Amino acid sequence: MSKPVVAGVGRPNVGKSTLFNALAGSRISIVEDTPGVTRDRIYADVSWLNYPFTLIDTGGIEPESKDIILSRMREQAETAIMTADVILFLTDVRQGLVDADFKVADMLRRSGRPVLLVVNKVDSFEKFMPDVYEFYNLGLGDPIPISAAGKLGLGDMLDEVVKHFPDASQEEEEDERPKIAVRVSVSPIAGTTRDAIDTTVTRNGQEYVFIDTAGLRRKSKVKEELERYSIIRTVTAVERCDVAVLIIDAEEGITEQDAKIAGIAHERGKGMIIAVNKWDLIEKDNHTMKEFTEKIWEKLSYMPYAELIFLSAKTGQRLPKLFDLIDAVIANCALRVQTGVLNEILTEAMAMKQPPSDKGKRLRIYYITQVSVKPPTFVMFINDKNLTHFSYTRYIENQIRTTFGFRGTPLKFIYRERKEK
Ligand code: GDP
Repeated sequence: MSKPVVAGVGRPNVGKSTLFNALAGSRISIVEDTPGVTRDRIYADVSWLNYPFTLIDTGGIEPESKDIILSRMREQAETAIMTADVILFLTDVRQGLVDADFKVADMLRRSGRPVLLVVNKVDSFEKFMPDVYEFYNLGLGDPIPISAAGKLGLGDMLDEVVKHFPDASQEEEEDERPKIAVRVSVSPIAGTTRDAIDTTVTRNGQEYVFIDTAGLRRKSKVKEELERYSIIRTVTAVERCDVAVLIIDAEEGITEQDAKIAGIAHERGKGMIIAVNKWDLIEKDNHTMKEFTEKIWEKLSYMPYAELIFLSAKTGQRLPKLFDLIDAVIANCALRVQTGVLNEILTEAMAMKQPPSDKGKRLRIYYITQVSVKPPTFVMFINDKNLTHFSYTRYIENQIRTTFGFRGTPLKFIYRERKEK
């Protein structure tokens, strides 16, 4: 199930980064060792009262001239409008209200998306509350006073945030259409809502929702900022999808940007299909496909489970096969394996290859069971976490895959220690 996305916007120095840190704490989820994924802190997994959500850091805006700040704030707000389920509009009680606040508030209000007006740096409610009332003038409802630095008022703010989350059970019932994150070549128009970038395709009576991952690229001085927004849009599109289809241009080969998107889908545990498009334009001999395939796995070695397909959107070559793959991968992401069968595989695997040992002590795996799907997640009960080794985890994974395939979906393994009997 996709998690709600919460994004913060606001002028430079109002405390967006401080708030992000206060909420995300040590739970920032960027996996450092996934190659190709930006190391920038962009999103974090947060939960409040059993409501997990993805927190997006839209990033700091460097204070430059007033005009530039405003245009960058618009860009930032636009990204939040397109991607977030709830927007936190941050202001600063000490600086008070400025013109840019009114303009951005206007833009947010017109978007119709849930916006919470947060007034930061209220380090003492007694001292600053009278100044907070001024913020009613923004027309965004009740201002929520907080101190990001002092961690004051954050609980009350989060209570408001989760109230705006779509009801998960209802959403599942309402929309069971497969959702596919894909980069389509239509640039989103400024101020459009995110629905405008969802495209519905019907095939054999089944509707598929294609979500644009971004594709926003403009040449400008603020390139870095835009690159960040483009990644944010990708993250949220991938968050909402069941399976990500990474479309690689056969003429260009796999780019850094492609690798980044793949890394994000991998981290978010999503199904993955790599589609090499414009295959009609490539001059081929007997080795072309093999060479191309090798180059892709060189870059994406951490996701050998991904499905790969060579197609041409223009001629229609293998397009029906792509839909078949999408269906198959979605089914694999939701596949459940019975505990009995899993433990048979485990026992056999351990008989063929002993678990690793260290200083005379051997890893013992007592039991394996699948605890969830999307992605399929397995818990292994063991004697000592220090004895685990990723190469052995991968070996077990491969044994499971040999039997069940699970093509296109990552598998997740969790170790739990249990006292030796
Ligand atoms: P950003 O540009 O919006 O990301 O703002 P930062 O998070 O970098 O914060 C800007 C400045 O405001 C820093 O010096 C923070 O220490 C300070 N700051 C942030 N939150 C608070 C707060 O709740 N109270 C006070 N007094 N200062 C804060």
